[in-house]
Amino acid sequence: YKKELSKLVNAESITVDGRKVELAANIGTPSNVEGALKNGAEGVGLFRTEFLYMDKDSLPTEEEQFEAYKAVLEGMEGRPVVIRTLDIGGDKKLPYLKIDEEMNPFLGYRAIRLCLDRKDIFKTQLRALFRASVYGNLKIMFPMISGIEELRQAKAVVEEVKNELKVEGIAYSNDVEIGIMIEIPSAAIVSDILAKEVDFFSIGTNDLIQYTVAVDRMNEKISYLYDPFHPAVLRLIKMVIDNAHKEGKWAGMCGEMAGDERIIPVLLGFGLDEFSMSASSILKARKLITSLNYEEAKKLADEVVMCATSEEIKSKIQNFVNR
Ligand code: PEP
Ligand code: MG
Repeated sequence: YKKELSKLVNAESITVDGRKVELAANIGTPSNVEGALKNGAEGVGLFRTEFLYMDKDSLPTEEEQFEAYKAVLEGMEGRPVVIRTLDIGGDKKLPYLKIDEEMNPFLGYRAIRLCLDRKDIFKTQLRALFRASVYGNLKIMFPMISGIEELRQAKAVVEEVKNELKVEGIAYSNDVEIGIMIEIPSAAIVSDILAKEVDFFSIGTNDLIQYTVAVDRMNEKISYLYDPFHPAVLRLIKMVIDNAHKEGKWAGMCGEMAGDERIIPVLLGFGLDEFSMSASSILKARKLITSLNYEEAKKLADEVVMCATSEEIKSKIQNFVNR
């Protein structure tokens, strides 16, 4: 089986009837690039930049960040690389950033909220990103966007940074796509509006499930409610993908669900363009996708969103795969 999988390292991710998707890797450090490529990644769909900020006693400098982003872009040799701006807060804390204790950290001062408040931190990261942009195919993604105002504010900071670099005579690419994570239900619900002002969406199901079902993703006691097959979660995902496509934008997914073979047929049927997952899941996902028929997966997806329970949904998918 392993041998069979290894044959797929350089294969396309394409269904039997010709629908091509991108299978990308989630990475946490530049050293993960090698493993991503070995496992057949066609890109990086999520580079979590938090590692640069954690396990340290001060903020990373522009130079340190530039080197890390450049290493990833060069390592991926022109393949698409989605780098997410700082997503700190929630369960991830920085000892040297004095943030008040919060009653609900997952609903608190985190990610883009912190970055828009601490523009110094945000601008340093964006400068490093744009300086690195000439070394590969960079796409920048903002986490935890809740609505259009935050997106516009973040994009205004991007423009500020680009202008500064221009004035300083520092080179950067003008082709950097700007996208957002869809991981808050409000963003999913207004994704038709958001789609007009981004280049892409990436659905963050780890948080989207938590916020949609109101279930703490870290709480074992209620983990039975943390259900990727919840009809509400699947309806939101379908809506987000449809709204991206209506504006001619692409939609990816970088939450754990994207690499879950139990649900991939449905995501494919929804028209998801990019699946980003841990490197070790890529070849298995490619094997599955190359065995599926897109037109049939679309019919499955249409049926699934009409189901009342996740049990019904699971058995529909089972029947589809086992036919
Ligand atoms: C997500 O929320 O799905 C996601 C990919 O981000 P993280 O797991 O880093 O919150
Ligand atoms: Mg998240």
